Amino acid sequence: MEKWLAGVDLGGTTIKMAFINIYGEMIDKWEIDTNHTDHGKHIVTDIAKAIDQRLEKHGQGREMLLGIGMGAPGPIKGDTGVVYETVNIGWKNYPLKNLLEAETSLPVVVDNDANMAAIGEMWKGAGNGAKNLVCVTLGTGVGGGVIANGQIVRGTNGAGGEIGHITSIPDGGAACNCGKTGCLETIASATGIVRIAKEKLTNSEADSILRQAEHVTAKDVFDAAKANDRLALEIVDFVTFHLGLALAHVANALNPEKIVIGGGVSKAGDILVQHTGHYFRRFAFPRVAEGASIVTATLGNDAGVIGGAWLAKQAFLL
Ligand SMILES: [Zn+2]
Repeated sequence: MEKWLAGVDLGGTTIKMAFINIYGEMIDKWEIDTNHTDHGKHIVTDIAKAIDQRLEKHGQGREMLLGIGMGAPGPIKGDTGVVYETVNIGWKNYPLKNLLEAETSLPVVVDNDANMAAIGEMWKGAGNGAKNLVCVTLGTGVGGGVIANGQIVRGTNGAGGEIGHITSIPDGGAACNCGKTGCLETIASATGIVRIAKEKLTNSEADSILRQAEHVTAKDVFDAAKANDRLALEIVDFVTFHLGLALAHVANALNPEKIVIGGGVSKAGDILVQHTGHYFRRFAFPRVAEGASIVTATLGNDAGVIGGAWLAKQAFLL
């Protein structure tokens, strides 16, 4: 009998959930709101209820599921499934795996959300089965996931692949959420791009389409650059210089086959890939540059739940 896997991707505003079969095909997907009350105490119960209700809709019971693969923000201890800290939800040393197992009576595997997105892209997305892959997610922040020899690199205390916190501006950079300054996240995230655009618009007299927008977004910047707006092109050049440089550093250590750029900012498409690729090739070791192709993610918001299903499959399919 066919069995399903449950993928769960916990975000700051919504929890994305899906039933996926062992071949990575989507059976059903849905989302629920992230309940922030009582420091996120009700989230695990909400997930268990949502899974039960959805199974019922399909006329199935829990025995239909092989297990659950769940991603959460922040560093996670992979084997125990303890979330060290998620600032925006309020968990600290939170035994997520044990609590979700107790609530659902199903086996659970937990990982960092950016790692799960990287695994999803490796399995069913732009990674196209590449065993050496770097995934960078440009959203509100900058997430990273590194896969070497088909295995996600979690590191000694769960902070492997934190590409967003590579220092780009050693002195005088903007403050980052991690406590440092000048991280890649302060430049290449949607938030960073908007900050840089505002600074440029204030410090320059140059004409720009961007002056017409009441609240400039990262999308506005890329759209203006596509229309050859000089100021917007300067911003894109600055952002992709730092992104290409950081990715070249990471790639020199890993020699990946694919570098997948995901997150909302990646919707800018060709212009982002081309400019980033230009700087990447300038800064990467020539043989590393030859071996790597830079592509945009193809799974969008589904990458996390698909990666979760893959992790559950690896852990629980006998
Ligand atoms: Zn940082």
